[in-house]
Amino acid sequence: MSFTTLGLSKPILRAIEEQGYTTPTPIQKQAIPIVLARKDVLAGAQTGTGKTAGFTLPLLQLLSDAPKQSGKPKVRALILTPTRELAAQVAESVQTYGKYLPFKSTVIFGGVGSNPQIDKLKRGIDIVIATPGRLLDLANQGHIDLSTVDFFVLDEADRMLDMGFIHDIKKVMAMLPKKRQNLLFSATFSEEIKTLADRLLNSPELIEVARRNTSAESVTQHIYPVDRDRKRELLSHLISDNNWKQVLVFTRTKHGANRLTEQLGKDGIPAAAIHGNKSQSARTKALADFKLNKVRVLVATDIAARGIDIDQLPHVVNYELPNVPEDYVHRIGRTGRAGNEGEAISLVCVDEIKLLKDIERLIKKEVRKVREPGFDVDPNIVAEPIQQRSAGRGGNRGRPGASRPNSTTSATRQDAGRGQSGARPATKQRSRDSHRGNR
Ligand code: AMP
Repeated sequence: MSFTTLGLSKPILRAIEEQGYTTPTPIQKQAIPIVLARKDVLAGAQTGTGKTAGFTLPLLQLLSDAPKQSGKPKVRALILTPTRELAAQVAESVQTYGKYLPFKSTVIFGGVGSNPQIDKLKRGIDIVIATPGRLLDLANQGHIDLSTVDFFVLDEADRMLDMGFIHDIKKVMAMLPKKRQNLLFSATFSEEIKTLADRLLNSPELIEVARRNTSAESVTQHIYPVDRDRKRELLSHLISDNNWKQVLVFTRTKHGANRLTEQLGKDGIPAAAIHGNKSQSARTKALADFKLNKVRVLVATDIAARGIDIDQLPHVVNYELPNVPEDYVHRIGRTGRAGNEGEAISLVCVDEIKLLKDIERLIKKEVRKVREPGFDVDPNIVAEPIQQRSAGRGGNRGRPGASRPNSTTSATRQDAGRGQSGARPATKQRSRDSHRGNR
């Protein structure tokens, strides 16, 4: 199947072709015709499935089909995302796919000055991609009118709820006109998501695509057993020896990320850190430098890495295993995207044996161990307790009981990534302000 049969116009097809996409992904195949038929959609799809194009392409088509507006553009489409990084990425996709169309789009998020955003809004915008907090601030100050929105997309709704955005979402919804088309994307479906979907969606079509399967052949997973104090040495050795060019490395804490970045720099490996204590501009720069291959290694904490999408990221390294097994699945899902090969390696010391067992139980397979010559494990070193996750991350993760919707489609379903319940772990609802302060 090619994109040409999906009912998209020439300017959109041309932009798709320039991206090098030849075949729609499963979520695109399903979502595009439904959105074009002007139906509400409840979609179960996570990052890496091509979901962004799944809603952006038909949305651009519908905007093109609508009668021409006279005067300054009004906001006709609103896409809400949980994080600034995701907002920026979605905005980039809207620009890319809409490059041969006349629509104006802009991205609105906190952590940066609001005046440039206000200026853009003043000039007239068709498509707004936003995180909820700043959008509400600007709406309350009268800088954006949401009463003309025809299409509302809630992207990564489960993360929005995890991050305590439910009240903000409701406030945004109250500013939208009653008659509109709604699309809700979520990787998982807790009771809260279902409640939100009931409120938001009007007789939605359900779409579900295979979740990223951790045992997918596109991601090769390895464990390198190593002594606690030799991890940095082994990492530098692996990067240099294998001449890895673009490596995303996960640490457990912000402090650990900073320290490792410095140490790698001393080893002659350019690295940048991305975590919640970094300013928005520092994070954007780190990500841009990494994408441009100016730095070889991006060291990230779990929260900061959420939503990061880098085309063809070849290597993910778990410098430290996450405390929560589901985070391992998220982390390695950063590689092997959209059909590309990826490699995920974990440096595991004696302290982390239990964490490794928990992960293997979740992904239902044993990860192959590789011994690097010169890095034999010292059997005399005894395990020490692992430093607990720093404050700010919900402590009640892994709550069972959430479920996925009954799909009405024939889409396949693989739950390997999430264990039996398929549930995204619940996190404490945090206030918007505390959330803002923490990231
Ligand atoms: P997403 O799930 O929207 O974050 O997309 C994941 C990645 O897949 C992005 O890097 C897209 O550029 C890429 N992508 C989206 N659609 C396609 C397609 N039909 N063929 C190949 N790559 C795609």
